[in-house]
Amino acid sequence: MKTPICEEDIREGRLCAQCEGKMEKGELGRLDFEVARILHRINQRKNITAASFTRCIDLGRMVVILTEGEPGVLIGRNGTVVSELSHALGKRVRIAQSSTDAKKTVEDLLAPARVLGINTAYQQGAEKTKVRIAKESIHSLPADVETLGKAIKTVLRQDVAIVFE
Ligand SMILES: [Zn+2]
Repeated sequence: MKTPICEEDIREGRLCAQCEGKMEKGELGRLDFEVARILHRINQRKNITAASFTRCIDLGRMVVILTEGEPGVLIGRNGTVVSELSHALGKRVRIAQSSTDAKKTVEDLLAPARVLGINTAYQQGAEKTKVRIAKESIHSLPADVETLGKAIKTVLRQDVAIVFE
């Protein structure tokens, strides 16, 4: 399995100094550790060694797990892996593919809301990124706008403004 936490930490249930440091810098979260531990337990019964994730995002009622690998492994046959994750976390779980295509990743994160585009503009030397969402999708967002803004910031590593058009 490939997760952002060392394998040894996952096995032993505590973080090494290096991972603690990443946690303090905000590069890792408690949720990443929790998800890695749950996947480790699942892996002892089902073979999911091909599973990988880069980051988990807490949307309140839902957790989004970003993977650069094949999302199917984290979903499992008939959704068994994702439902076990969901049960253990007590929240709905969505697997999103983290791709080099920012729009695709944001679309996965916001589905079923419709993303019209992501635009970056330069204003007085500062970069401003706007995520444009179809106005009629406002009620199909998976979480509130503030939470989603933070989630997108984690994914794109920059501040964004969410606008409805
Ligand atoms: Zn570690």
